[in-house]
Amino acid sequence: LVRRMRPFGSTIFAEMSALAQRHDAINLGQGYPDTDGPAAMLEAARAAIADGLNQYAPGIGMAELRHAVAEDRARRYGLQTDPDREVLVTVGATEAIAGAVLGLVEPGDEVVLIEPYYDSYAATVALAGGVRRTVPLVPDGDGFALDHDALRAAVTGRTRLLIVNTPHNPTGTVLTADDLAAIAEIACERDVLVLSDEVYEHLLFDGAAHTPLAALPGMAERTVTVSSAAKTFNVTGWKTGWAVGPAELIDAVRGAKQFLSYVGATPFQPAVALALRTEQAWIDANRTALQAKRDMLSAALREVGFGVHASAGTYFVLADPRPLGYHDGGELCRDMPARIGVAAVPMTPFTDHPQDWQHLVRFAFCKRDEVLAEAVSRLHR
Ligand code: PMP
Ligand code: GLN
Repeated sequence: LVRRMRPFGSTIFAEMSALAQRHDAINLGQGYPDTDGPAAMLEAARAAIADGLNQYAPGIGMAELRHAVAEDRARRYGLQTDPDREVLVTVGATEAIAGAVLGLVEPGDEVVLIEPYYDSYAATVALAGGVRRTVPLVPDGDGFALDHDALRAAVTGRTRLLIVNTPHNPTGTVLTADDLAAIAEIACERDVLVLSDEVYEHLLFDGAAHTPLAALPGMAERTVTVSSAAKTFNVTGWKTGWAVGPAELIDAVRGAKQFLSYVGATPFQPAVALALRTEQAWIDANRTALQAKRDMLSAALREVGFGVHASAGTYFVLADPRPLGYHDGGELCRDMPARIGVAAVPMTPFTDHPQDWQHLVRFAFCKRDEVLAEAVSRLHR
């Protein structure tokens, strides 16, 4: 393995899922739902295969999906998007992120990440030969907050790209209107590009509404927004996502993406397009169900003795096991599958500053109620 990739080892999600499987543990580690997405969407994928949509899609993705993404942004957020030049279909949000970083960051350019960060950001910055700078979220009440001064200090003349993620994996933080305004102001002032990872755009709780960063003044022309059917429609295995942004930035993402995968799988694209157009009721019901699961798991973890951070979005909750005598979340995560029969993930892959984060563990609550209940009863034991 090349030197620049060695620090990343193999992903913690694969490692913890394998451990969970070995011990027949309930997997609240890797974030994936255990129920299917909308039935009509699944049927549309079957129909696409039966109808012979089994060859390469166009490089930028099938028109049907690109149009559906553009319409969705117009309807939901009032954003105008040219489906032929400003949308690129990708192999999950993961490839949209990789394509953006590889297509936009020169070796030596600085990339600012908000920490903890989704693991693929750091790895793709390393692949591109970029230099990462991190700005920590800071504990604030039972949640976390963005320190605007720290962000302002980190984004300098050497910064090419700022990567933002809201709702935020792994903390469940949803950036406030003030945070978004500060990010926009800093990005415009320093003239940096922004990669906005909004894969959890529909997974917000307590009546909150998502604001895309690209909707803020000055941001449309400098932001690549990524999202994915994985989170919106419970199809992490379909690996169907997209990048949206101004044509010249999307061209750059595409320049890299075409040599990563060339194109994504064809038959999922019309199915996801259909779901974007017709499944708002499913999205709403899923959000409501996830909020109840969040409440249930958070309360149960508290009862077991964990400190529990507030999760305002995503399907993750961070728990602090120090009251139970565990000071190292990594150790707890390696022990739990065998000892308790439940898996979670540690913060190791999400941070450059383990001393600040290693006491925490992340639980995913996107599981059937009976599975969560069994996990909770095991935790109690
Ligand atoms: N970004 C974030 C913040 C994520 O949590 C995930 C998936 N867990 C991804 C990107 C990747 O999405 P996909 O599975 O569509 O590649
Ligand atoms: N994004 C999911 C998570 O954070 C899973 C990603 C993965 O397995 N690479 O758990």
